Formats: sequence, structure tokens, C-alpha cells
Amino acid sequence: MSGRSERALLCPSARCETGATLLGIVGQQGTIAFIPIKLVVDKAFVSAATAYARPPEQRFRFANRCMKGGCRHWHGARCHVADMVIEHVKGGGEPLPACSIRESCRWFAQRGALACSVCADVITDMSAAFADTEGAADKGSVR
Ligand code: SF4
Repeated sequence: MSGRSERALLCPSARCETGATLLGIVGQQGTIAFIPIKLVVDKAFVSAATAYARPPEQRFRFANRCMKGGCRHWHGARCHVADMVIEHVKGGGEPLPACSIRESCRWFAQRGALACSVCADVITDMSAAFADTEGAADKGSVR
């Protein structure tokens, strides 16, 4: 897609940091319940969320500024994760989630509604899911 400010785009699989947008909560089925209004997390939230044994990126999804070339998932002029999730994640299809960042989302800018159709099945830190496999070595495999 074109016409969007590249500087304004957000990564929808960011870490839990002060100033990040809380996109949604991981439910018991392992899918994201999106929060339709924009909620920016503060220091107190980050402190509380990181006090648990399980990392916040296994329990929530966050968005933050897309680092482009500063991120290991940036290949050429694209976010490799956006392409990868569409290829490998089985999505729920329509309707698209009520997401608070769609107008500034990197994945949506790159892949449109197809990215949204699989997005609820993405958990940023998959190390728990891959705990008994080689994938555990790639903690934070989505980001
Ligand atoms: S891919 Fe779609 S649903 Fe997921 S964060 Fe981006 S705009 Fe929201």
C-alpha cells in the first residue's frame, strides 16, 4: 500500500515497554482478544506485567514503532514477519479484528486485510509453545 507515512508505522508484535500500545490479550485458546481503543501502557503496567514468571509477550500483544532496518526481521524493504505469518499461520478469516492501530500498522500496510485475518493467531513470544523443540532457541520468534 502507498501513501502512508513510513515513519508513523507500528510493529504489531512489539515488546512490553513504556509507551507501547496494548493491542490485545492472549486468551485461553491462544488467540488474541483485540482491544478496540488505543491503550498506551505506562511504567506501572510494564512493572506489573513483568513481575510474573511468564513474559508479558506470551500473555499480551503490543505495538510500537517499526524499526525497519534496525530490526532483525527487516529484509530489503519489507517486514519478513508480516509475510511469514500469512504463509504459516492459519487465520480465522472475516470479520477482521477490531484493532486500534490498523491505519498505522506495518503488517496491514504491507499485506492488507490478509494480515489482519491471521493476526489474532500470532503470539509475539512463542518460546512457551516451542519449549520442548528447537524453536525454544528463538525466543521472541515473531519479533
Ligand atoms: S495486522 Fe491487522 S489486526 Fe493485526 S495489528 Fe495490524 S491492523 Fe491490527
